[in-house]
Amino acid sequence: MAKKKKATPAEPPTTGWSVPAWEALRASTADPVARYDPKATPGYTGNKASAAAELTSRGQRLADLQEMLFANGRSGDHRSVLLVIQGMDTAGKGGIVRHVGGMVDPQGLAIKGFGKPTPEELSHDFLWRIHRALPAAGRIGIFDRSHYEDVLPVRVHNLVPEEVWSQRYELINQFEREVTEAGTTIIKLLLVVSKDEQKQRLTDRLNNPAKYWKYNPADIDERAYWDAYLEAYQAILDKTDTDVAPWFIVGADRKWFSRLAVCELLISALEGLNLDWPPPTFDLAVEQARAAAL
Ligand code: AMP
Ligand code: MG
Repeated sequence: MAKKKKATPAEPPTTGWSVPAWEALRASTADPVARYDPKATPGYTGNKASAAAELTSRGQRLADLQEMLFANGRSGDHRSVLLVIQGMDTAGKGGIVRHVGGMVDPQGLAIKGFGKPTPEELSHDFLWRIHRALPAAGRIGIFDRSHYEDVLPVRVHNLVPEEVWSQRYELINQFEREVTEAGTTIIKLLLVVSKDEQKQRLTDRLNNPAKYWKYNPADIDERAYWDAYLEAYQAILDKTDTDVAPWFIVGADRKWFSRLAVCELLISALEGLNLDWPPPTFDLAVEQARAAAL
């Protein structure tokens, strides 16, 4: 028997947002990253308890939209969505992948983390490994770190000369323009954690055997470059926040907010595709008659 699926109803606007997340969190309207308040919940008037309830209902909406994207991908629509996540160590990039990604069918996701480039990756240009990880038709790709690392630690530690990294912003804009023109909607998320909160989270990792695996001694070394990282993040926001591939800033100190906010941003990206359930690729009346005769 064919599974009946109700069309996704048009959702009423969520109650907790006075300004849609898509506008309230857009980097171009936010404070500079060095002054950004990681506890802020721009546009959201709810609290931790209301956010948890809202995440459940909005998660369902996200799951419906994701299924529709996947269904269209199966039916010849080449579009996809890519969420790029950046943020300092302990900002909660992995938590966003787990909690927001966890609200949709994992078969529809293409999750990729980018660590220090391998020798093979280093033998190609910096976008090579990124190209290869782009989501296929109908998928939601999530990048835990990305091509932006090539203007973050690479810039902060001069891993390549300035003449090289300084040209990458324009190369990135060009790349993202091509990717979006080819059908991938890109949204970019900067998770901003405070220095105090990072200290707390690093300390927690050392006080809990279940978190040792997350601890990396190099994170404390990187912390010494905090201000240089802030400058590098600001440069990204100044140079690569485009309308085709917008940056959003989300404070990371309140996980209940960052998860809800990212869910909301993904919903907006998917709604922007104006998806509908794909029409049958067969003669519906004929098949219904055949099924009735079974
Ligand atoms: P994690 O996300 O905790 O697994 O750490 C990955 C590490 O790889 C981080 O320290 C990143 O800064 C580093 N990394 C990722 N991409 C690059 C890159 N292109 N160049 C240098 N370091 C990188
Ligand atoms: Mg790490």
